[in-house]
Amino acid sequence: MRANWHEFVTMMVQNNFDVERTSNSCSVSLGEEESVYPASFHVVENCGVFLARVRGAKKLIEVAQADSVLFTAIEAEQTTTVAGKTVKIALLSSKNAELLRKHLPFMKPVAFGRNSFSLGLGDRLGLASPGHLRCLAGSGIRPVLAQQSIRELTLTERTYGDVLDAASWAVLQEGFHDGFGADGDHLKRSEDIKMALDLGFSMITLDCSEKIDGNVANLSEAERCERYQSLPDVFRTKMEAAYLDKTFSVGKSSVHFAADALQEILLTYGETLAFIAEIDAKFIKPHHQPVDFELSIDETATPTTPAAHYFMASEMEKAGIVLCSLAPRFCGEFQKAIDYIGDLASFEAEFAIHAAIADHFGYRLSVHSGSDKFSVFPIVGQYTKGRVHVKTAGTNWLEALRVICRKEPDFFRELCRFALARFDDATKFYHVTTDLTKVPDVKSLADNELERMLNEPDARQLLHITYGYILTDKDAAGKRLYRDRLYQLWNRYEEEYAKVLITHIGKHVSLLKKKI
Ligand SMILES: [Zn+2]
Repeated sequence: MRANWHEFVTMMVQNNFDVERTSNSCSVSLGEEESVYPASFHVVENCGVFLARVRGAKKLIEVAQADSVLFTAIEAEQTTTVAGKTVKIALLSSKNAELLRKHLPFMKPVAFGRNSFSLGLGDRLGLASPGHLRCLAGSGIRPVLAQQSIRELTLTERTYGDVLDAASWAVLQEGFHDGFGADGDHLKRSEDIKMALDLGFSMITLDCSEKIDGNVANLSEAERCERYQSLPDVFRTKMEAAYLDKTFSVGKSSVHFAADALQEILLTYGETLAFIAEIDAKFIKPHHQPVDFELSIDETATPTTPAAHYFMASEMEKAGIVLCSLAPRFCGEFQKAIDYIGDLASFEAEFAIHAAIADHFGYRLSVHSGSDKFSVFPIVGQYTKGRVHVKTAGTNWLEALRVICRKEPDFFRELCRFALARFDDATKFYHVTTDLTKVPDVKSLADNELERMLNEPDARQLLHITYGYILTDKDAAGKRLYRDRLYQLWNRYEEEYAKVLITHIGKHVSLLKKKI
């Protein structure tokens, strides 16, 4: 049967707070005005807690079984009595999330280490995680539910606290006890790393791009030699002794350091070494719980060569820095929200070596901007044997728009027109090669053709990179143009949103596992 929160409390009391019996007597129903999330029911510290919709809004319901410190501490909007028990109806606030995380450890993020198969899911809206969790259930793939860069936080006007809370509430809602990750993605500054770790984030992706010199490849040989000679003698001598003209075997392949390649690597990546060591010593090693430490060298203009990858890995190992994963920049293009652009055979050849290097040093490869890279997923799975991390690029946002497109076509058309007007501004933040002339004219599309805007590459990119403006732009009176209406609709159509995510992420999962 379906129950509202009131009926659920009555059942709970009748069943003497027995979780299984109570949850099993109520069916899951999302998105209705009055309904309960039965999997969220837990008994802790002498109280029963669960999530429910009360007049359409998601609330935390808390029922006192006996005297309880937790019950008293939860801040409530309303306190009432049902079936002889005191009941609090509370907001899904940050303070309440923090309190519950103390008592229900599965609501806290955990590190996954060097051997798992994980997927970064980056929920930009704070609404996608229930669908993501259902999609990954039973797949053997572990979810990094919270995954945001500072750029994404700024564009959506959210904080890491908001991002973490949304993930915690989602695991409670789904009753997911297997552990989720939280990734401070592409962090460059000490203060951001500290903030993420202080909040309880379990993964740090250190972005070294500001310490990488991307211009070295453009230097003439004479210029390169001159710059190389100006490096400190001690550094040069040490590196030459370790790498010059040497060949290292990795799996079935090998990596060789010719003089010019070594010069280029040292000039390009030399400055990253001290930076990574400092972050590791200051934040990662002393942290009171395990952290998945990922190194990202992917935000560069040219692909990471196998030699450069080997060099970074080897220097990390020598410095005693334990990487959980490393993200090289692969050949071809990993643009947001569309399939891989490039030659698959070259990708496969290079990926095989990168995977062998990662195996050799014991960490996992990390593939960034992984949304919709369907043509390379079987290769990624095959060569890593599922010991890999793949970050999706926030395309759960496009799936959220798919719900709007199906339910409110005229509103969706308006959003498309707005996105077009804001496209140029958005290209400041994202590298895309979108051809706007290929974007269909929404006026000419019938309702049942409108999803072309979400299925064709150019239209997808248009809507993908303009999310910040759609969510935060204001009218002349300072009121948000679209945000409130969008959230109302997504809230109402929670079930539909979960379904489209299961289809979308499910396709990623099956292709990643295809050749394992
Ligand atoms: Zn990246």
